[in-house]
Amino acid sequence: MRIRLLGDPVLRMKAKDVEVFDDGLKKLASDLAETMYMNDGVGLAAPQVGLSIKLVVVDLNDGSGWRAFVNPKVVDRSKENYMDVEGCLSIPGIFEEVPRPIWIVVEYLDLDGGLHTEKFEYQNARVLSHEIDHLHGKLFIDYLGLAKRRLILHRFMKMRRRGGSENANRISGNA
Ligand SMILES: [Zn+2]
Repeated sequence: MRIRLLGDPVLRMKAKDVEVFDDGLKKLASDLAETMYMNDGVGLAAPQVGLSIKLVVVDLNDGSGWRAFVNPKVVDRSKENYMDVEGCLSIPGIFEEVPRPIWIVVEYLDLDGGLHTEKFEYQNARVLSHEIDHLHGKLFIDYLGLAKRRLILHRFMKMRRRGGSENANRISGNA
C-alpha cells in the first residue's frame, strides 16, 4: 500500500466509522500492519494509505506483534502532558518534540466488533494518540507553533523536490 504524504487531502479528512466486521476488514488490517513494518513504523492509520475510515494498527513493542483498533476514541486522559520526539510515515524525515498525555483511556472495537476499554501510558499512549489524531485529520506538526510549522513545511517541500529524505536515519517514533 502506498503511504500518502503531507499535502494529500485525505490526511486532513475526518474518517468514517467502520460498520462492517468481515474478512475484508481483517485483510485490510493485516495489509496495513505489513505496510507499517515495511516502512519501519510503529503505527499506521487507514487514512495514511488513502482510506478515510476509523482503523489503525500499532505495534506496542511488548512482543505481542501488531494490534488493530477499530473506531477508537479517547474517553479519558491525564491532565498533564509530557514532551517527546515523534515522526510520521506521512511526513518522512521530520522529527519534532510534541506534547502528549501521560496516559489515556481508549474505547475501541476489535476486528470482530468486540468492545474494549483499555488504559495506555507513555510511549503506548503517545503512539495511539498520534494514530487516533490521524482519524480526525490531525497531524503531529499541528502541535507546533506556526513559525516552526512553516519552517518544517518549507524543509519538507524542499526535501520532496530533491526526491529524497534529508535525514535517512529513521527513529522508532515513526507513526
Ligand atoms: Zn502519523
